[in-house]
Amino acid sequence: SQQNLRVMVTGGSGFIGSAVCRHLAGQNNVAILNYDKLTYAASQASLAMLEGKADYQFVQGDVADAARVCATIKAFRPDVVMHLAAESHVDRSITGPGDFIQTNIVGTYVMLQAALEHWRGLEGEAKGRFRFHHISTDEVFGSLGAEGLFSETTPYDPRSPYSASKASSDHLARAWQHTYGLPVVVSNCSNNYGPYHFPEKLIPLVTLNALEGKPLPVYGKGDNVRDWLHVEDHARALHLIATKGVPGESYNVGGRNERTNLQVVEAICDILDELRPIPGQSRRDLITFVADRPGHDARYAIDATKLETELGWTAQETFDTGLRKTIQWYLDNEAWWAPLRERYAGQRLGLSKQA
Ligand code: NAD
Repeated sequence: SQQNLRVMVTGGSGFIGSAVCRHLAGQNNVAILNYDKLTYAASQASLAMLEGKADYQFVQGDVADAARVCATIKAFRPDVVMHLAAESHVDRSITGPGDFIQTNIVGTYVMLQAALEHWRGLEGEAKGRFRFHHISTDEVFGSLGAEGLFSETTPYDPRSPYSASKASSDHLARAWQHTYGLPVVVSNCSNNYGPYHFPEKLIPLVTLNALEGKPLPVYGKGDNVRDWLHVEDHARALHLIATKGVPGESYNVGGRNERTNLQVVEAICDILDELRPIPGQSRRDLITFVADRPGHDARYAIDATKLETELGWTAQETFDTGLRKTIQWYLDNEAWWAPLRERYAGQRLGLSKQA
């Protein structure tokens, strides 16, 4: 429609948030405000193409800073708040859970209160259109056995400090809907991959190590199963949920791409052997098994039927097409990842979001 839509994105300088901002910037008549603290996980370079555009603005701030959040909302007057800001790295949540409690739980509480105050001041059509979209993970559902899928009605059973903090924030978001009537939609997504993914995460880490002929660490036996979704498919789903989602409902987002971690690492090796062969060497020989992460969930898999049937979303990438494009993107965009890899070389934590 030609109607102007004003979207406040929290965490817009992160991996998924930046994909959401790039996606929204490609639509007609969408004004974007990115509110981000710029933690280690942020990258300003992921949004370089939006800087200076009339419909994009950036505010540096913490979601737990009530005064700053309220002032930003008051000035921008969003129709939709897409709340993605979070501490997101499972390994970091094990070694230092405090930031996860503060940002993911307290920060979500502050965002909900500020959104409620704003929504209460709206009238008529603007009030009817407002949505608070809380973006979450499938990790809140715990771990699956060999069979079954997570649906929207799967009971919560988080296992890590990260997933427990996200589960808490999901409960807060739903409570603000039930108690105060704030129009909240929640979405829970499986593992994302794609361009601009921070180099400490599994797929970029393995891609870059393999490119450089370095060891490829794999937790345990590499048999943990994750369900992979290309980040641009996720961004399209989030845009749909934020604008067409029914208040009070939650939507699972996933690409029906279950792979063991070992299969993922082997696929990366094979694609790189094809694109950048090392004569006489197979990159699979670089795979090194390391001690498993404590409490490592066995399997996650999403049933996205509700999103597909009710909102008409489908994933455009299969894992094979999406992975090949992603690896090619890393080959073409050393200028993006090299400084990040350099900056965090000393504090690299090994593999992540194999969870
Ligand atoms: P990310 O770590 O790449 O980015 C997080 C962003 O939030 C960063 O730009 C960071 O600076 C910002 N941020 C962190 N703390 C903040 C604070 N206190 N105030 C303001 N900004 C802050 O994360 P991501 O992978 O893009 O994930 C985004 C959201 O999607 C998270 O809520 C995460 O739980 C959820 N999610 C991620 C995945 C995945 O596979 N990456 C899957 C499902 C759901």
